[in-house]
Amino acid sequence: MTRIFADPDAFVADALRGFAAAHAGEVALVDGGVVRAQPLEPGRVAVLIGGGSGHYPAFAGFVGPGLAAGAICGNIFTSPSTAQALRVAHAADAGGGVLFTYGRYAGDVIHFGEAERRLRAEGVDARTVLITDDVASAAPDARDERRGIAGILCVFHVAGAAAERGDSIDEVERLAAHANSRTRSHGVAFAGCTLPGAGHPLFEVPDGVMSIGLGIHGEPGVRDVPLQRAPELAVTLAEPLLAERPEGCTRAAVILNGLGSVKYEELYVLFGHVAEHLQGHGIEIVEPECGEFVTSLDMAGVSLTVLWLDDELEELWTAPASSPGFRKGAVGGRTAPIAHREPPAPRASTEPAAATPAAASVTDASRDAARIARRLTRRARDAVAAQADHLGELDAVAGDGDHGIGMVRGLNAAAEAVEAADEATGVRELLGTAGDAWSETAGGTSGALWGAALTQLGQSLGNADRFTPEDVVAAVAAACARIAEIGGAHPGDKTMLDAMEPFRKALAARVQTGEDLAACLIAAASAAREGADATAAMTPRLGRARPLAERSIGHPDPGATSFWIIADAVAHDVAGRREGE
Ligand code: ADP
Ligand code: MG
Repeated sequence: MTRIFADPDAFVADALRGFAAAHAGEVALVDGGVVRAQPLEPGRVAVLIGGGSGHYPAFAGFVGPGLAAGAICGNIFTSPSTAQALRVAHAADAGGGVLFTYGRYAGDVIHFGEAERRLRAEGVDARTVLITDDVASAAPDARDERRGIAGILCVFHVAGAAAERGDSIDEVERLAAHANSRTRSHGVAFAGCTLPGAGHPLFEVPDGVMSIGLGIHGEPGVRDVPLQRAPELAVTLAEPLLAERPEGCTRAAVILNGLGSVKYEELYVLFGHVAEHLQGHGIEIVEPECGEFVTSLDMAGVSLTVLWLDDELEELWTAPASSPGFRKGAVGGRTAPIAHREPPAPRASTEPAAATPAAASVTDASRDAARIARRLTRRARDAVAAQADHLGELDAVAGDGDHGIGMVRGLNAAAEAVEAADEATGVRELLGTAGDAWSETAGGTSGALWGAALTQLGQSLGNADRFTPEDVVAAVAAACARIAEIGGAHPGDKTMLDAMEPFRKALAARVQTGEDLAACLIAAASAAREGADATAAMTPRLGRARPLAERSIGHPDPGATSFWIIADAVAHDVAGRREGE
């Protein structure tokens, strides 16, 4: 339960403002996150971390010497946008290159990946190391597909300490990847967490039961078992970590992490048993940590992390760090507080800018199409808003429960952007603006994908003298292709593509018969609905629902469901207008 807030929608911004006020000498706010108050020494690597909020001290609390140069902070459990990542990167960059490192979640990968690409186009040496420490989220032979949980702190500190001593971007990247390859975490949940302003938790764990393999976004665990006492729990947590101990390794950094509402005394009780158990396996524990590092709002749960050390990792793990949420050793004298720091102006991109036609050269057809797009955006928003709770519930089955909230936020932003656009705007610019607003505001995987799809739709339609139904088919196909390209999904993976592909195919087939576009859209929307319904039988192979694949069987995919809701609203609006004309 979150008791303290002003406006639940402003919770993240309010918390960040208070955080910056409380740590004014250490961090400075930038639009999209925080950077160190004291700029990096010129030529140093900027280690950038980030993700959704709700995990404090991750991520803003880990900004400081020996840790990150900046943190990109999204909404609760929602990936930040590409634009946010770019703003934080520009503010933190000291000329030595930028390393993005964060837990592997689809939305973050899409947004930060795009920011990395754009930074490279500006001439910044940007790299990425994904963190994949959670043993419960994929089998050992699919380690690259695991998600990141509390082990992110090990990688953050190794990378941050390497950057602090002046290592090159090649070295910092190598060491971060090396730390990730030797970090393993395993968690259990006793009770779910509640989003600020929400009346009930994202998931519930029955009394006397614990859920093994929890996620940090309110994703329930993968297996429920009877609650264990501390000695048995220590063994349960440690078992899969010991199973992946590198040959001959006897030294380990250990983190026992509380998820938000487990008392420190309870953590210490458990730590005693964990230490005994690991020592019993011949392991020497090096500078362990016991406390809250990566939380999940008020979730009751714990996770155990082991960083299997070698000489170079031990040197970095034991190096000093000084940030609001994690301090160890002595990092040198205090620096004078800097209350506010203006981010430097972004460097010019070397990418060719997309040509924007002057208002005079926008065709009448493009302007007409823009008018229709405005109306359809509002329609789509109203239809999704009416189903937001249902979409959230579908996402809570095996994901993090934010799909309804995220879609409404994105569509509201898109609708506001198209309202604010000049009457003379053509369809390409209008949909580009709407797509940017959607992706920037919604965050999350679906926000990134819908934002890119809308922008692509506009680019494909372009600034033509007239639009045919075939042009609409081609634009829909290009938008589908863009979603597949960015998200890497295939039909059958249980994503929004499983509604989009049937929509695209049905639309193309109907348009070929020469039928009226409105009738074609109605048929395509009904194919989208069938596609979305059919996802109920599928097992997710991508996204947040994958670790809980079994649970999701019998329930349709939230992203596929919201797609057909939008397709249906659009088709009926177009058909209604035709009849009314
Ligand atoms: P998040 O997963 O970041 O919380 P949302 O809950 O808003 O984002 O959206 C979840 C939906 O996004 C899923 O139901 C699925 O349809 C879609 N999705 C997730 N990953 C992908 C992907 N790689 N490609 C296409 N769609 C995806
Ligand atoms: Mg979600």
